[in-house]
Amino acid sequence: MIVLCAHRLFTPRKEILNPLLFIEDGRISAVSSRAQQEIPKNATVIDFTRDLPDVILAPGFVDIHMHGGAGIDVMLASLAELPRLNKFLTTHGVTGYFPTTVAAPLDQTCTALRRLADAIEVAQSDLASRGDDIQALPLGIHLEGPFLSHKRRGVHPPENLLEPTLQVFERLWQAARGHVRMMTIAPELPGAIEVIAEAARRNVCVSIGHSDATLEPVKAAIKASARHATHTFNAMRPLDHREPGILGEVLTSRQLTADIIADGIHVAPEVVKLFLRAKGVARAVLITDATAAAGMPDGTYQLGPIQVEVKDGRCTILGETDGKLAGSVLTMDRAVRNVKQFAGWSLQNSIRAATLNPAAAAGLAHHGQLTPGAEANLVVLSPEGEVRRTIVRGAPS
Ligand SMILES: [Zn+2]
Repeated sequence: MIVLCAHRLFTPRKEILNPLLFIEDGRISAVSSRAQQEIPKNATVIDFTRDLPDVILAPGFVDIHMHGGAGIDVMLASLAELPRLNKFLTTHGVTGYFPTTVAAPLDQTCTALRRLADAIEVAQSDLASRGDDIQALPLGIHLEGPFLSHKRRGVHPPENLLEPTLQVFERLWQAARGHVRMMTIAPELPGAIEVIAEAARRNVCVSIGHSDATLEPVKAAIKASARHATHTFNAMRPLDHREPGILGEVLTSRQLTADIIADGIHVAPEVVKLFLRAKGVARAVLITDATAAAGMPDGTYQLGPIQVEVKDGRCTILGETDGKLAGSVLTMDRAVRNVKQFAGWSLQNSIRAATLNPAAAAGLAHHGQLTPGAEANLVVLSPEGEVRRTIVRGAPS
């Protein structure tokens, strides 16, 4: 048994002062305050307050929309390269993530999905994150495309966009061996509602986005069990006060959780604040939408089939001058600190938007919270939200 001691702990629903966190076989067995429980004699005690008196324990961050980092693109990486990305993610507090595709030719997408399914199964086999080699875990695949709106495609290549059909969805599902956990889809496309209902039936978190939808298809999508929205404001029909459209519903619906790229570039800080107010502490989700360029110097990088150029923290398509953003170089720890700064949220609530909320939105029951039965995936933070250590399945980095 391992027992962790800190100054504060966020479950993240609750705050516990002077906490003890008990880990057995890579899972959390109990969480309590020091006053409530004795430390068993045979336990291995790790007291983080020795190095940092006001140290905080929080669940490891869960990033449900991530294309790469540390020079690695999730669609192009080999199985041998992915650990470098997984290691990089832990340095920013991420313990679990959804590798996310972009719209590519179907064969290329299927090849990538097969490889990502391999990576997920390796992580599930429980050996990958033991010992000193701490790595974030790929937990499922997010299909961003090919069922996206031409009008709101962002940088997804138009020639790779497809109308939703059960046949194409089935092909992607088979290539991914059922590891698709999330799908971004434009609900106004012909055939979308049928695909949404089928994906939801397979426990995929269906997220509406890259969409020019008016209110009606959005309501139909929710009725067909869509339950989330992808990078709110970006690649979406803008809000109009008489034609509220997709944004009107996303911002006000209690049935939809929604995510946002809180880098201050994709969405202005004031609008991040508006989003957080609208969705509230329980429904706001932070994503990075990071590309291979995250954690790397300015330069040229690959985003699936797309070449992106990074300059001063902005990712744009190489050679295009219209300034369309092509993913980000955001990291999750930075997003959490930005939410504190942009909206004046507490560290506890900011952390919730990067842990419990994405895990709950994506149906990941054993992630994003420090409660008995959850995987022992944690981040050790300073009071300012700087990452000090990351722990995956009970093994500290
Ligand atoms: Zn993306």
